[in-house]
Amino acid sequence: MSYSAPVDDIVTALKTVADLDVRLANGLYPGLDADTVRAVLDEAGNFAADVLAPLNWSGDRVGARWQDGNVSTPPGFADAYRQFSAAGWSALPCSEEFGGQGLPEIISSSVGEIWNAANLAFGLCPLLTQGAIHAIEAGGSDALKQTYLPKMVSGQWTGTMNLTEPHAGSDLSGLKTRAEKQADGTYRITGTKIFITCGEHDMAENIIHLVLARLPDAPAGTRGISLFLVPKFLLTADGTPGARNDVVCAGIEHKLGIMASPTCIMKFGEQGGATGYLVGEENRGLANMFVMMNSARLAVGIQGVAIADRATQRAIAFAKERTQGRSSTSSGAGMAPIVEHPDIRRTLLTMKALTQASRMICLATAAALDNATYAADPEEAKAARNLAALLTPVAKSFATDVAVDVASLGIQVHGGMGFVEETGAAQHLRDARILPIYEGTNGIQAIDLVTRKLPLEGGNVVTDYLSGIGDCVTKLHASDNAGLGRTAKNLKDALDALSAATRFIGKSLASDPDAGLAGATPYLNAFARVAGARYLAEAALRDGASSSDIALARFFAENCLTAAVGLSDSAMNGSATVLASEGLLA
Ligand SMILES: Cc1cc2nc3c(=O)[nH]c(=O)nc-3n(C[C@H](O)[C@H](O)[C@H](O)COP(=O)(O)OP(=O)(O)OC[C@H]3O[C@@H](n4cnc5c(N)ncnc54)[C@H](O)[C@@H]3O)c2cc1C
Repeated sequence: MSYSAPVDDIVTALKTVADLDVRLANGLYPGLDADTVRAVLDEAGNFAADVLAPLNWSGDRVGARWQDGNVSTPPGFADAYRQFSAAGWSALPCSEEFGGQGLPEIISSSVGEIWNAANLAFGLCPLLTQGAIHAIEAGGSDALKQTYLPKMVSGQWTGTMNLTEPHAGSDLSGLKTRAEKQADGTYRITGTKIFITCGEHDMAENIIHLVLARLPDAPAGTRGISLFLVPKFLLTADGTPGARNDVVCAGIEHKLGIMASPTCIMKFGEQGGATGYLVGEENRGLANMFVMMNSARLAVGIQGVAIADRATQRAIAFAKERTQGRSSTSSGAGMAPIVEHPDIRRTLLTMKALTQASRMICLATAAALDNATYAADPEEAKAARNLAALLTPVAKSFATDVAVDVASLGIQVHGGMGFVEETGAAQHLRDARILPIYEGTNGIQAIDLVTRKLPLEGGNVVTDYLSGIGDCVTKLHASDNAGLGRTAKNLKDALDALSAATRFIGKSLASDPDAGLAGATPYLNAFARVAGARYLAEAALRDGASSSDIALARFFAENCLTAAVGLSDSAMNGSATVLASEGLLA
């Protein structure tokens, strides 16, 4: 089945959460107008449908291959990547100083959805390159920026993120890769990294690895980690790739999904030490890497939206074709398309509503990042930064959990045909399953939300956010739109429950941290459902809202939001039921 980019849904989300019309009218996104936004999204949709989507199925079948340290991507991938770069897509969100187009995060996230929906395995390489560009821009010396960024921005070279080691995954304090300073100011890197996406491949002339490593005299734990740039090919005097650096791919993983994306075991320094260049200051590497990780976390949330949308498109198309049974609306004597059955309609609408809610949350996060960049008033910029910090773990976790749930529902709609590979529904579930794991597992995101984000500014960031949802409830009550059904009441009930859970967790963190940690995942889920309901309601309350916007807001509020009350309650259970259950796990 071909892919059709959901440009209207994306534009609705942008108008709602990024105030797109007002911002464009006020010139707040330099060089952008409504026609350009539409044209960029339409063009991305065409490229994705014509070039990337046709490789999704074959990429899954053939997979990436490793031989003697070299990795080949499936047929068509290298050419698609060349076309992608030549068309300027890799440069879209990057700084103009290094050859980029400087488009805001909301556009970069929107087109990111389109690439990943068409072909998630392909989309990962530009995603990580983008993160690496951010980290070098934020922490690198001028010389490093001038030497590496233009070629990474143009897409000639790709980037990687080398954090994970066999004994250091969620907890990087156990990281063992070593770096030793040399007389010429470079560093000699030795160690093994695992699970490195696109650590080796045949799509670009050079691969720029960003590697976390420890200096010999570094303090223990995460305070003693530094960040290094380690190119696959060292550069000659004229800046072109020359001699091979001492870094090799020792193998790739056999996985459940994203088969076309090579997940590499990387060995640094088997021949005496790979040459690395320090990014930022010694022992401050994790702070620099967090720049990359935060950008990548939102981008992974967007991958979740992408898969959820693709699975929904496929399921709707199937449900219109497949006939079984009779429905109350059936005409004639034959069987009805399954889309007419109430249970299938509920499933499809659940998929659609969860997808649009996730899209809204992710794009609200992107809009906050843009506001932090473009706001002239420093206080406004700081508030936007805090909002982005609050929403990032929610965007990453909720959208990726939704991807898995929606892809699974998509299989259900297909019946037995969903379980066999030929419909493509199964690939979405296999591909989606990594999303809640990489870039910080969703469990770690929930811990981040409750322990670091709720306390921001003494709790004022979350309080302000919840009060914004209260304003939405007031507007819903004032609206006389009967089409919104019980949206106002349900949002009010869910907000009250979430506010109580927020207060409970805030108090627990001081007196009984385990109580807050035990409830972190249900709390994040409740938070996301309330946030999603708010954005969908705001879309429905906009001037010019369509009947579909209103129906979707109502469906979400009456079917997907109600769980937030129960989840908030679970978040307030404390730690007793969780920690006193040793017998159950014996
Ligand atoms: C396909 C793929 C691509 C990847 N790409 C990259 C890449 O490009 N670069 C890179 O560096 N890494 C990459 N990774 C690694 C990925 O980021 C890690 O797998 C992930 O961070 C989890 O680490 P782990 O696998 O060691 O799991 P662990 O850290 O061992 O976690 C296991 C479980 O325990 C939970 N857990 C851990 N600590 C805590 C805690 N303190 N409290 C509560 N629960 C906890 C986790 O949530 C998880 O459920 C990739 C992995 C895969 C599979």
